[in-house]
Amino acid sequence: MSGPPTAGTRPDEVRRHNRTALLRRLHVGGPCTRAELAAELGLNRSTIKALVDGLAEAGVVVEQVSVKRTGAGRPSLLVLPQPRSLWVLAVDVGVEQTTVAAVGFGGEVLGTRGWTLPRGSGSPDDLLAKIGAAGRRLAERIGSEPVGVGVSVPGVVRRDGYVHEAPNLHWEGVPVGERLSAALNRPVLVGNDAELGALAEHTRGIATEAADMVFVSVDVGVGGGVISERAALRGSGGYVGELGHMVVRPGGRPCYCGCQGCWETEIGEDALCRALGLPEGSPREAVVGELRSLAGEEPQVALTRMREFTDWLGLGLINVVNLLGPQLVVLGDLLAALPDAVVDEAAETVRERSLVSRAVGGIRIVASPLGKEAKIIGAAELAFQQALSG
Ligand SMILES: [Zn+2]
Repeated sequence: MSGPPTAGTRPDEVRRHNRTALLRRLHVGGPCTRAELAAELGLNRSTIKALVDGLAEAGVVVEQVSVKRTGAGRPSLLVLPQPRSLWVLAVDVGVEQTTVAAVGFGGEVLGTRGWTLPRGSGSPDDLLAKIGAAGRRLAERIGSEPVGVGVSVPGVVRRDGYVHEAPNLHWEGVPVGERLSAALNRPVLVGNDAELGALAEHTRGIATEAADMVFVSVDVGVGGGVISERAALRGSGGYVGELGHMVVRPGGRPCYCGCQGCWETEIGEDALCRALGLPEGSPREAVVGELRSLAGEEPQVALTRMREFTDWLGLGLINVVNLLGPQLVVLGDLLAALPDAVVDEAAETVRERSLVSRAVGGIRIVASPLGKEAKIIGAAELAFQQALSG
C-alpha cells in the first residue's frame, strides 16, 4: 500500500488515498465505529463522516446501532461492509482440484464452484473455459459483476498473468491473465500459489503482525512466497521465490528443472510419499490422511518415521532463513498437515544452526492455520488489493 500523502498532493488524490485506507481497514478488520476509524487511520471525524456517507450512499457500507455501548453517551454507529456491493472472483487452479469462489467485501464467501480432474488431464483451454463459465454463473447468481479477478497457479508466473511454466499442470507459455480477462471482461491478476499463500497469511492468517515472513508450501512441487517490509517481494518479472529449486544435495535425484538434488526432490510430494511409505503420486487424501494419523502418534514415532524428511526440511529452512531473514516462516498446503513433532524439530534445527535466526533471536516456524484455503484467500486478496485502491 502507498504511504500517506505528502504536502502538495492534490485534494482528490488525498481523498482517494483516505478512501482506500478506509476500505482496506473495513475489508480486513471488519465492522467498527466511525470513532475507531478516525483513531486507527489518523483522520479527523469530519473526513471520516464524509467518506462513510459517500460509501453508504453507494451501498458499499451500512451503519447500524452498535450493541456494545461504551459509557453513558449515545450508542455509537457501527460501519458494516456490504459483501455483495464489491466482490471479486477468486480462482485456485490446483493440480487435481480447481476452485472458483465469489468473495465479498469484508471476506465473506458468497458462493463457490469446484471440480476435480485427474492429474495432467485437460488442456489449459478447457480449464480456462470452465473457469470462465463458473465465474459467469456465480455473477448471475449474485446479480452483479465482480470488481476484479485473482487467480492462483502452481507455477512460474509473470506479473502480467503469463504462466511461463507450470510443470505439474503440464502448462508452458499460457497467457492465463489475458485469456480469462477476455472471457470474463474483467481485470485479472495472476499469482504463484505460494506467493498468494504468503499474501493470505499476511492479510488474514497467522502472519498479520509479521513485517517479514516467508511462506513455504508443498503442493506437488515446493513453492515459496516472500513478504518483505509488509510488501510482496517480486523479483525480476515477478518470478521470485522458487525455493524448491535451491540445490541442497549436489548429485542427488534429478529434478525436472535440469538440476540434481533440488530441495523439491527431498521434501516435495514424492519425497513425502516415500517418507510415509506410500507410492509416489498417491492421491492427496491418502497423503494427508497418513500425516494426520502420524500426528496422533507419540512425537518420537513421527520423528523416527520421518527422520530423513525432517532433516532435509530443516536444512532447506536454514538456507531460506539465512537468505531472507524473516521473523516468521509459515509451512503451507501439504506441509500444514505435518505432525507437530516434525515442525518443532525442523524449527529447532534452524534455531541452532542458522546465523540469522540466532541474530534475530528466534524465528518462528509454524504450520499454516489457513491450510489449503490459503491459495483461494490469497487470490481474492490479490484482486481486492487492486480493486480497493481504484
Ligand atoms: Zn529443481
